[in-house]
Amino acid sequence: DVPIVVTNLSKTYNNGFTAVDGVSFAVQHGQVLGLLGPNGAGKTTTLRMLMGLITPSSGDIRVFGHRITPGAPVLSRLGAFIEGPGLLPHLSGSDNLRLFWQATGRPIEDAHLDEVLAIADLGVAVDRKVRSYSQGMRQRLAIAQAMLGLPDLLVLDEPTNGLDPPQIRTMRDVLIQYARGGRTVVVSSHLLAEVEQTCTHVVVMDRGKVISAGTVADLVSTG
Ligand code: ADP
Ligand code: ADP
Repeated sequence: DVPIVVTNLSKTYNNGFTAVDGVSFAVQHGQVLGLLGPNGAGKTTTLRMLMGLITPSSGDIRVFGHRITPGAPVLSRLGAFIEGPGLLPHLSGSDNLRLFWQATGRPIEDAHLDEVLAIADLGVAVDRKVRSYSQGMRQRLAIAQAMLGLPDLLVLDEPTNGLDPPQIRTMRDVLIQYARGGRTVVVSSHLLAEVEQTCTHVVVMDRGKVISAGTVADLVSTG
C-alpha cells in the first residue's frame, strides 16, 4: 500500500479563509518528499490534515490505504513533528524520549531507542539536560521523538526552522539515513535549496494549490 495518497483536498477555516484548495499528490515508499512553498502556502494545514489533527473541508487522505479522519486512533506507522518541541528542559534527552514513549503504552523495546539515537546523532549529549542543548540539538531530539518506534512514515513540519547551515546539513543526513531503510519521509520547507539538498521528490505549493510536482532533478532542471 502506498504511504500517502491525497485527493482533491481542501480546507476552509472557520473565518472563511481557504488555506488548501484542491490539492492532490502521492508519496511512494522510500521517498523523501519536500512540501515546498512560501509562508502561507498551506503546508502546515496540509500536514495537520494528514495527521488527522484537523478536519478537511473536502477531499480524501489515505495513509497506507487507511482513510485519515480526526479522532481516529493515530496510526502506529506514522510519526510526526509538527509544532515547537514539547521537550522538558530539566530532563536529559534520553529521559525525554523514554517519558514520551511511555505515554504510548507500548513496550520500551518497540521504541528502538538506540537506533533512533544513532540516527538523530545526539552522541553523548543524550545524557545531558535538554536546557544545555543548542537549537540544532533540540530540533534533532524533537525529531528523534517522532522517530521512536521507527514509523514507516515520518512527517516533519519545517524541521530546519531556526537552524544554521551546518545544522541543516546534519538534519539532511539524519533524514536521508532514516529513509534509507525503505521508510518514507515528508518534510515541509520554504527554502528551495534545502529541499534540493534533502529530498528526492517535491510538491510545490502556493496559495493553497499545487503548482508543480515531480523529482527534485526535474524541478532543478526546469528552474
Ligand atoms: P478549525 O476550522 O479547524 O476548527 P479554527 O479556525 O477554529 O480551526 O482555528 C484553529 C486554531 O488556529 C485556533 O487555535 C486559532 O486560534 C488558530 N488560528 C486562527 N487563525 C489563524 C491564522 N490566521 N493563522 C494561524 N493560526 C490561526
Ligand atoms: P504554511 O505552513 O505554508 O505557512 P499554513 O497552512 O500555516 O501555511 O497557513 C496557510 C494560510 O492559512 C495562512 O494564510 C494562514 O494565516 C491561514 N491559517 C492557518 N491556520 C488558520 C486558522 N486556524 N484559521 C484561519 N486561517 C488560518
